[in-house]
Amino acid sequence: MQHHDVLIVGGGMVGNTLAAILLQQNFNVGIVEASPEKPWDTEQADLRTFALTRASEYIFRHTQTWDAMQASRISPYEHMHVWDATGTGEIHFDCADIHEPSLGYIVEQSVIQKALTQRLSEFENLTMYRPLKVENFELTGKTMQVHLNNGETISTQLLVGAEGAHSYIRYLAGIPYDMHDYGQQAIVANIKTELPHQFTAWQRFLPTGPLAFLPLQDKHWCSIVWSVDSPHALRLVDLDTDEFHKELEAAFEHKLGAILESSQRVAFPLQSRVVRQYVQPRLALIGDAAHTVHPLAGQGVNLGLLDAATLGEVLINAKHEDFGQKIVLRRYERWRKGHNVMMAGAMYGFKNVFGHSAPPVKWLRNFGLNLTNSSGLAKKVIMRQAMALEGDLPQLIKCFD
Ligand SMILES: Cc1cc2nc3c(=O)[nH]c(=O)nc-3n(C[C@H](O)[C@H](O)[C@H](O)COP(=O)(O)OP(=O)(O)OC[C@H]3O[C@@H](n4cnc5c(N)ncnc54)[C@H](O)[C@@H]3O)c2cc1C
Repeated sequence: MQHHDVLIVGGGMVGNTLAAILLQQNFNVGIVEASPEKPWDTEQADLRTFALTRASEYIFRHTQTWDAMQASRISPYEHMHVWDATGTGEIHFDCADIHEPSLGYIVEQSVIQKALTQRLSEFENLTMYRPLKVENFELTGKTMQVHLNNGETISTQLLVGAEGAHSYIRYLAGIPYDMHDYGQQAIVANIKTELPHQFTAWQRFLPTGPLAFLPLQDKHWCSIVWSVDSPHALRLVDLDTDEFHKELEAAFEHKLGAILESSQRVAFPLQSRVVRQYVQPRLALIGDAAHTVHPLAGQGVNLGLLDAATLGEVLINAKHEDFGQKIVLRRYERWRKGHNVMMAGAMYGFKNVFGHSAPPVKWLRNFGLNLTNSSGLAKKVIMRQAMALEGDLPQLIKCFD
């Protein structure tokens, strides 16, 4: 029977990052991934893009994948402009105010995954199981016995669920979670605009939901994330191209002029999920398997990468102990759970405050935006928070800051 120090289920961005962190410290790692192997194509622009924080950049530097991403295609953004569609409230962030070269980066999923996959292929202490799934597992003494759907059984000191929002490991472990369905879907697409994006991440809060234009490497192309109620989303996905461009221009107040071209549109249902337990003996959840948040602040994968970095650090520090014990895994849970719950709550709060049409709420939020915009100090604090460089961070991030 194959044995691994750590068996990670789900080779998404978060699972692969944890694998790289552990492999670099000579852990013997297995990854079970449901999808078949396919080379990541970075020639074509990917519809799935992510706003990455500085902390995520440092995690990728640690895993020696950042240079490959930079050599491929990343788009730093220097400004962020947020405004309320129902008033005069607006706020503008500029990286120069905190003496940083950028506030973050827009990076395509294919670029991230290609760099991670390339890095993982350099390790002999990694075994990939794909396209396969876990059917069941049981705790036997000091190991977890994990049964795959091809009949193979693998033993491991620690099983990690990293298979995203619909984690089967979480289900098999009977871990409860609290869920909120926003009743909304986010439409993503790549859009060519008449005016250049000015290396700015734009976000307009409409009563129907937030609309973000995120700058891509070509200064006339942005990736959009447009959250609206589900029936509205399905209608927007089905609209013909010219009609869609007209609705999008109006929703974005023609901020970057006319919409000239657009890619295919895809809609993602929006739910928030917070698990009550991150760990059990010889089992841990990371990334979307542990929490899913509204994408309005582009935090989901950034939180997952922090989980990977934190769990990695806890395991590395306990490498010479029995690191699958709950007492060790609890260090990871205590470190990450509060922060993730707070972020999920903050996204929920933002979504509700900006969706409220009562005049006092509208007045208050516009006043709040303008007040914050006029306070240099408050803006500096928010920018550092948004870069995820505040709080109790794993050492592997701190050593770059
Ligand atoms: C519209 C939208 C925009 C977003 N924008 C941002 C953003 O700008 N910034 C940001 O930080 N986050 C963003 N997010 C959130 C981000 O997409 C997620 O947080 C992130 O993808 C989670 O990564 P993960 O690796 O945990 O899970 P996933 O990306 O879901 O990866 C899971 C992996 O597990 C595999 N898998 C699934 N089931 C099984 C199984 N049973 N067995 C084995 N393998 C399995 C899958 O094939 C996949 O490879 C956005 C989300 C949405 C919906």
